[in-house]
Amino acid sequence: MSPAEPKPRKYSYYVEARALEVTDRPRRFLETFAAVLEHSNYAVALDAYARVCSKCGRCADRCQLYETTGEERDVPGGRGDLLLRVYRRYFTIGGRLKARLVGGFTLTDEYLDRMAEEYYRCVACRRCKEVCPMGIDQGLITHLARWLLAEVGVTPKALVLAVREQLQGVGNTSAIPVAALKNTCEFLEEELQDIYGVTIQFPFDVEGAEHVFFPAVSDYLLEPDTLMANAAVMHVSGGSWTIGTGNYDGINYGLFYSDRMMERIVGRLVAEVRRLKARKILIGECGHATRSAWFAPTFCGPDAPEVVNFLQYTARALREGKIPLKGKVIEERVTYHDPCNIARAGRITEEPREILRAICRDFVEMTPNRTHNLCCGGGSGLVSVDEIRPFRTRKMGKMKADQIRATGARIVAAPCANCKKQLREVCEDNGLADVQVVGVHDLLLRAIDFGVEPKAEEKVESSSQAMA
Ligand code: SF4
Ligand code: SF4
Repeated sequence: MSPAEPKPRKYSYYVEARALEVTDRPRRFLETFAAVLEHSNYAVALDAYARVCSKCGRCADRCQLYETTGEERDVPGGRGDLLLRVYRRYFTIGGRLKARLVGGFTLTDEYLDRMAEEYYRCVACRRCKEVCPMGIDQGLITHLARWLLAEVGVTPKALVLAVREQLQGVGNTSAIPVAALKNTCEFLEEELQDIYGVTIQFPFDVEGAEHVFFPAVSDYLLEPDTLMANAAVMHVSGGSWTIGTGNYDGINYGLFYSDRMMERIVGRLVAEVRRLKARKILIGECGHATRSAWFAPTFCGPDAPEVVNFLQYTARALREGKIPLKGKVIEERVTYHDPCNIARAGRITEEPREILRAICRDFVEMTPNRTHNLCCGGGSGLVSVDEIRPFRTRKMGKMKADQIRATGARIVAAPCANCKKQLREVCEDNGLADVQVVGVHDLLLRAIDFGVEPKAEEKVESSSQAMA
């Protein structure tokens, strides 16, 4: 190997350092860091964090990774300090002066590798922030560190490929062409007719609708019950909505590794709403898609469309008496998983519970719950990285598995595409294979009173399998 060639990285799931020479990475990292500090609001937070962390270690009490592994490397404050150390050394007068007088810490390629590994162990759940006496947000530090690492070519391949497909390929992360999307929706319409005896249509490109619908596009492949329920809620409540063929994917993996990418993807949602002369972005059952869409005013200006999560829409329609129910038809014990991105970050905690309590006979809470809930273990995009499944499910997800087991529930409702995938794997890998992980709307669909007898009751529970 010639000295100019980049060394192969030891992490198989990281993208290679592209065309950059290894010796270029620290310089490039610092140049990007300087630009971000100059042109964004990160400098204010980072400067405060770099000064106030008292190394008290209280954050370790709330980190499910540290609680599971007990490894020093997983103490949140220590991980955060990896980036803060670079900040202090290169971007404060004291750090620069000290370096000139006595030398000391220098950013190296090996240090960047260590950062890459550590910042892709944190799921950015932000539980540790709740107990930090200084209000330090380790999730924010992880977020920024990943962005800077992305600029030197270090990002899990799965995230990069998904974003590339969205921005340069077919236009969505699952590479579903419009014809296939329409076929799928026709199939779902037939299922609604066959199973529930109702005629419900998925509308396309309706100009002037109130909402443009953006589920995680993977729902079209994996979550037919969630989508049928979404359409059914709109049908019975008289909602005004459309799917846009210009963009029908709410997923935004930019949130997990690059503000630059996140901005471009949010811009695509806003553009589609404007193209269709609609008023609101309606996000399906997906936590990170909702949270990233909330940045629309930041990236697209104050007149950006309002963002509504489907749980908010449905709970409101239920309160207004627009969703007729057959009653509490779900007899199995059900528990609810709060996705970090809508619960801790967005305070959407009561809406799903209103829905579940209206339809479940035996609803039980996990402990802790709501804004204190545990991450599924696959947050911050890690769920997409198949190579680290044992880490995700047996380390990060172990406390979540214990939490589910303690409820005795056979059904976990999780209104997030990423949480559903991760929780299914967590259950499989932790002796909970008989636990079903479903969407909140999936259960609601079974309880909606369409005023007709279902044609094939036994099919109600197996429509997911029919899609498989
Ligand atoms: S709890 Fe806050 S102040 Fe204490 S070590 Fe953790 S980050 Fe630092
Ligand atoms: S954000 Fe979550 S995973 Fe990351 S250090 Fe804090 S508690 Fe641990």
